[in-house]
Amino acid sequence: MRAQPTASHFINGKYVEDTAGAPIDVIYAATGEKIAQVHSATPAIVDQAITTAKAAQKGWAKLSGMERGRVLRRAADIIRDRNRELSELETLDTGKPLQETLVADASSGADALEYFGGLAASITGEHIPLAGGDWVYTKRIPLGVCVGIGAWNYPTQIACWKGAPALACGNSMVFKPSETTPLCALKIAEILIEAGAPAGLFNVVQGLGDVGAALVTDPRVDKVSLTGSAPTGKKVYAAAAAQMKHVTMELGGKSPLIIFDDANLEDAVSGALLGNFYSTGQVCSNGTRVFVQKGIKEAFLKRLAERVAKIRIGDPMDEAVQMGPMASKSQLEIVRGFLKTGVDEGAKLVCGGKVIEGKGFFIEPTVFADVTDGMTIAREEIFGPVMSVLDFDTEEEVIARANDSDLGLAGGVFTQDITRAHRVIDELEAGTCYINTYNDAPVEAPFGGVKGSGVGRENSKAAVEHYSQLKTVYVKMGPVDSPY
Ligand code: NAD
Repeated sequence: MRAQPTASHFINGKYVEDTAGAPIDVIYAATGEKIAQVHSATPAIVDQAITTAKAAQKGWAKLSGMERGRVLRRAADIIRDRNRELSELETLDTGKPLQETLVADASSGADALEYFGGLAASITGEHIPLAGGDWVYTKRIPLGVCVGIGAWNYPTQIACWKGAPALACGNSMVFKPSETTPLCALKIAEILIEAGAPAGLFNVVQGLGDVGAALVTDPRVDKVSLTGSAPTGKKVYAAAAAQMKHVTMELGGKSPLIIFDDANLEDAVSGALLGNFYSTGQVCSNGTRVFVQKGIKEAFLKRLAERVAKIRIGDPMDEAVQMGPMASKSQLEIVRGFLKTGVDEGAKLVCGGKVIEGKGFFIEPTVFADVTDGMTIAREEIFGPVMSVLDFDTEEEVIARANDSDLGLAGGVFTQDITRAHRVIDELEAGTCYINTYNDAPVEAPFGGVKGSGVGRENSKAAVEHYSQLKTVYVKMGPVDSPY
């Protein structure tokens, strides 16, 4: 077995076990076999994690940004050095193919630690001169103890995208991974200690929604950052609001990808494939409603089907394999239900459409054409390798239909007409948009949604505003002018 974490939780700089917590089996999605077991955090474990995070935060916040940043950048280097080992663990945790995890997970986590490590020394306030020589200065101060709660599709990346900006700003963190993928975040906690982070600064506790809720409602917690589904987001946001906590909500999407007649066909097909089948379709920003202008429809579907037929599905540890299984049996069953609904509601199956029976949670990459706006597969987030192709005639029509969703995480357009590209993007109700590409997520760019897809932004300089707050200080240089 590859290097695995040695206990369920990571608290105060070391692995901690408490077998009194309910067992959680870790299932390798490619075989359906149990590869590890962790225990859900008991109330005592939750208390220990928050207590230690609160204690560690005070000293950490007193360090200079340079000093904090140095630790984060060291952690980034260690992650890069161990990329293969961490990528293999990510594959075991999620079932995603090694071909992907080698380039998109630990390395993306390292990018976040490197970026926010570099930024830490520049997190400053400003000087504001006033009349009569008086002045104001502002300080950007930490929030305190932050809780991170993760989804199961990118366990390493999510831990780092939340941990890196939180720590750079002088906060501490208690991170709860998804119960489906509990392993990877523990390795990040271990590496941060090796990089010189103080014990208690970044803690990991396991559990289901009840443990997440216990963290969110603890009065010692100052901020909650959730990556998860829209329904969970509403619950967590409401619980955080009851105690006026800061939040970042990275939730689901049903994003439109609009392909005009004049698009470069091969690039448009590439964008649609990347935006629907990467990570077996388990990506929040996926462009799952592919609107194709009628003039290019037949050529698009033909080329799409040819390229889908060549996708190599199989053992995710084989680096030639391009698509692995769904992350869990329950997600497989959810997607199986959508495949049936698509057919029942009259969508035309272009390719795929079946669960691959046998060991593991594999499913065929699936394309439905002639999908209409009211169909269930065009309205609900599927979170699997299922692309819906919808036809359209005019720009005005497609913008209205693309925006007809409660969600607004992402959106994209493929066209050679530069002014139309910007015009359409201007009108899209989406937080993260793409022109002639799809699903890039570099740490330098803000990432997040509008409408029901969330609140706040991850990555980039924008994340600093979500992990710190301003303190305003008025300074009087002369006598105090008082009427009393
Ligand atoms: P989920 O909402 O079921 O769970 C997310 C996390 O929340 C898990 O760790 C879970 O244990 C926890 N949780 C559940 N109920 C809770 C509660 N009441 N209080 C506190 N925590 C609670 O989501 P999932 O199935 O793990 O992930 C898939 C979803 O995540 C999809 O909707 C996807 O779009 C979304 N997602 C969004 C982004 C983004 O950046 N916008 C990225 C990845 C995934």
